[in-house]
Amino acid sequence: MPRIGVLALQGDVREHARALEESGATAVSVRRPAELETVDGLVIPGGESTTMWKLADTFEMLEPLRLRIKDGMPAYGSCAGMIMLADRIEDGIEGQQTIGGIDMVVRRNAFGRQVDSFESDLSFAGASIHAVFIRAPWVESVGASVEVLATAEPGDRIVAVRQGPVLATSFHPELTGDVRVHEYFVNMVREL
Ligand code: GLN
Repeated sequence: MPRIGVLALQGDVREHARALEESGATAVSVRRPAELETVDGLVIPGGESTTMWKLADTFEMLEPLRLRIKDGMPAYGSCAGMIMLADRIEDGIEGQQTIGGIDMVVRRNAFGRQVDSFESDLSFAGASIHAVFIRAPWVESVGASVEVLATAEPGDRIVAVRQGPVLATSFHPELTGDVRVHEYFVNMVREL
């Protein structure tokens, strides 16, 4: 069984751990570099990216996370986690850093300017799913090696992407009880 970490600095860690376990993985909390070393893949939860960045900096996790992702560790970020996995962000706070991993520009709180939260049915990598968006970012632009896996109204915005072993969604599949996005990620980890 793949051993998948959930970055447990802030955010909805428990919901992701449950969805991973239901998808056939062993889920463990990751807060420190030594814990990061023990996992085959990592989920970065939804929450608040500014807080997550500051805590990752305080816990001296930013560099270890960057190194493992550069090294090819599979990672999946939802919402705030998507922001953390973006190489570049718009509408971050002063000095806000990310881990990076996907060649894209993500706009923070993008849908939130129009409507704070909403739900929408969309097609994710060919599967029809119900997606929950909460003060969600969208992907403003992607580089040539990034695959777009889902778009959403309003505006046909990019809301799910993959670049090699790194996956990100604007929405929160951990909140719906439908574990197909987590299964998709667990399969990515298995394939490596
Ligand atoms: N707006 C949040 C941020 O900037 C993300 C919201 C979420 O994860 N639900 O991190």
